[in-house]
Amino acid sequence: MCAKKLTTTAGSPVPDNQNSMTAGARGPLLMQDYQLLEKLAHQNRERIPERTVHAKGWGAHGTLRITGDISKYTCAKVLQPGSETAMLARFSTVAGEAGAADHERDVRGFALKFYTEEGNWDLVGNNTPVFFVRDPYKFADFIHTQKRHPRTNLRSPTAMWDFWSLSPESLHQVTILMSDRGLPVTPMHMNGYGSHTYSLWNAEGERFWVKFHFKTEKGHEHYTNAEAEDVVGKTREGYQEALYNTIEGGDYPRWKVQVQIMPEAEAEVTSYNPFDLTKVWPHDEYPCIDIGVMELNRNPDNYFAEIENAAFSPSNIVPGISFSPDKMLQARIFSYADAHRYRLGTHYEQLPVNRPVCPVHHYHKDGTMNYEGQQTGVTDAYYEPNSVDGAPEEVPAAMEPALKIDGNADRYNHREGNDDFGQVTALFELFDDGQRKRLFGNIAAAMGGVPAEIIERQCRLFDQVHADYGKGVRDAVKSANLGKYDPNAVPVTEATPQDAAE
Ligand code: NDP
Repeated sequence: MCAKKLTTTAGSPVPDNQNSMTAGARGPLLMQDYQLLEKLAHQNRERIPERTVHAKGWGAHGTLRITGDISKYTCAKVLQPGSETAMLARFSTVAGEAGAADHERDVRGFALKFYTEEGNWDLVGNNTPVFFVRDPYKFADFIHTQKRHPRTNLRSPTAMWDFWSLSPESLHQVTILMSDRGLPVTPMHMNGYGSHTYSLWNAEGERFWVKFHFKTEKGHEHYTNAEAEDVVGKTREGYQEALYNTIEGGDYPRWKVQVQIMPEAEAEVTSYNPFDLTKVWPHDEYPCIDIGVMELNRNPDNYFAEIENAAFSPSNIVPGISFSPDKMLQARIFSYADAHRYRLGTHYEQLPVNRPVCPVHHYHKDGTMNYEGQQTGVTDAYYEPNSVDGAPEEVPAAMEPALKIDGNADRYNHREGNDDFGQVTALFELFDDGQRKRLFGNIAAAMGGVPAEIIERQCRLFDQVHADYGKGVRDAVKSANLGKYDPNAVPVTEATPQDAAE
């Protein structure tokens, strides 16, 4: 086969890719050796800013097939029975940097992009149905506790437990993180959850609240801390290897796709706030309805172009699917798209992996990476409204039903009337003795070096979930001989925010 010509980025043939151009037999180099300059300059620019959170990721392409019929709830074409949509998944850890080991105890990101004929629909969830905080004011602070201490440049268990012990709403997610599900064997052995409450709307303009669930068909499998340490001692890339090799071998991983549906008015009467990201909707009240299957069946040809450059944002919805009053969702609608404008450039949606399969027409102009020029498709149409023939016009038919709000522009206190403990108790009661023992041990192991007062403040929150929870953690901390922890010697701590609200 005839080899391709090696060229500069401008297409000029490169005559020699082994020897730099010199003035004499022993140098020095010449400025005019542009091929060399270009090569050095490109190497300097191979990295883009890594994501502040979810930096380490693994992903693949696949298909969403809808088999169930929820057409009475939504007019979204992607969710109609029989529809088949190409999609992309990116899994990730939250706290570690791009080079972090895969098998660390952490929440896993579960980000999905569906290339629908009505635009890209992104569902940017996690492998857990809840999150640590319910208010975006706390998000940046929370993430700071998961990252490195400014002076030591080390992760700080003290910061983590200080924050958690002062934020009782984190108990639900902390309990899942420290339970068996906090360390899945591979991305294929865990569930995904849209986590937030979203909404669906139908052709009659009725809105329904919805939770999305993706249930692993390979089953849940987890490592203990000790098993994971053993794996990380051998490979830091265990997820990448497992996902890539499984798909390459034709054993395509699948997830059962389910929704929970809540009629719009019921959100006002549930005992819990259904838009609170620290809560689930109990299955017996809102059963999971099977609607289809998601399958991953194609590895990316180029990891950087198709996974690192992939830009998922909850702001990407399509007609028939919309948002909810969830404060964390509302904040992410801004912050995820903004992260990609910073990380990839203003026109990141023009990158092949992010580009919708339907025509795109808008009046945004110029800016970094706008290599497609005028996105209206008509040269003279570069403002709106205009009277230019063939110019893009708004689509009133895509208008979603009005969101019902109470008109109270208050900084309403989510702690009032909010039970941060009941659902955690329900979870704790699902755990058998072995699961509880591992939960206590994992928490104790994560508390190394944490001051006794913070440990005790956290244990008092565990007490409020279940007496066995607080006791179990205290015993595990003592037997792990962590620091000088002795509950009897700990001074009475200040009231937690939960105590203050009661
Ligand atoms: P159910 O008994 O109907 O549901 C319990 C659910 O908990 C299971 O369906 C499973 O969810 C999940 N689960 C089971 N074992 C574990 C585990 N070791 N770690 C984490 N999750 C586990 O009761 P409820 O719906 O009333 O929920 C009770 C508690 O279960 C909740 O407070 C919440 O902590 C947890 N949970 C609930 C979910 C929900 O959407 N209702 C989802 C996940 C957890 P799955 O089928 O998703 O694997």
